[in-house]
Amino acid sequence: MKPLYVVPDTSDPPEDAMLQQEEKRAESGVCGICFGTGMELVEGKGVRRCQCRKQASHTRLIETARIPRRYEACHFHSYKPMNPSQERAFSYASRLTMDYPAVDKGLLLMGSVGVGKTHLAVSILKGLVERGFSCRFYEFGGLLKEIQNSYNPVSQTSELKVLEPVFNSDILVLDEIGTSKPTDWVRDTMAHVINTRYNDKKLTIFTTNYLDRVANQRDETLEDRIGVRLRSRLFEMSKTLVMKGEDFRRSFDNIAPLN
Ligand code: ADP
Repeated sequence: MKPLYVVPDTSDPPEDAMLQQEEKRAESGVCGICFGTGMELVEGKGVRRCQCRKQASHTRLIETARIPRRYEACHFHSYKPMNPSQERAFSYASRLTMDYPAVDKGLLLMGSVGVGKTHLAVSILKGLVERGFSCRFYEFGGLLKEIQNSYNPVSQTSELKVLEPVFNSDILVLDEIGTSKPTDWVRDTMAHVINTRYNDKKLTIFTTNYLDRVANQRDETLEDRIGVRLRSRLFEMSKTLVMKGEDFRRSFDNIAPLN
């Protein structure tokens, strides 16, 4: 009997082979290549990890990162920079994704609604999930609600299962900071999360619709929303990039021509 070798995992199978495999799996509920063993037999060569397991582990990682479904299509290749500020943010974000963990600062993406801040933050997260790092996405208001809901008034603590991934993920996205009503509790909780990650030298990507300078006196700055100390902490731990432009969803390129 021939010995069984491990076949290096270098190439993906051709697309029609993948389709046939999908069809077999759909019919029986079991992978038609590995029959549920997770290992694919390669004629005359040996065994390698089956495609079905690779796909499953990638999907699991994306689910663990908790990227909302509406951002499923966001990736670097689907981002079209519309002006120099967006080009700069795009190239900075893709460089960070390639260089991590050899980076010492996260990112603070600032700009008005629809300029693609979340799109780029999600692209970084996906790129780093693909590289095998533990990543989490939170819309900041949603995270505050989760912390609040898990708060136990007797022990005066929030459940560790909510906070553990916030503190320990390699990369965390905090989307839309400054949007929640800035009460003392919100600011204290925010400071706790941000300072813990800062002290542990963990990378955090922030997005915000608030700017540092506003043309209209009546508009609020990021500092007005989160306080001077937190704004200064963000300066220390992240590179600030201001993204300009109009709401992409309303941009000329994005509107189908009338017939
Ligand atoms: P922001 O976070 O700045 O408010 P989003 O990233 O949520 O904006 O963008 C809103 C929508 O427009 C998303 O569906 C996003 O994928 C898309 N979008 C924004 N900017 C771009 C861009 N430059 N290229 C491709 N899609 C974009």
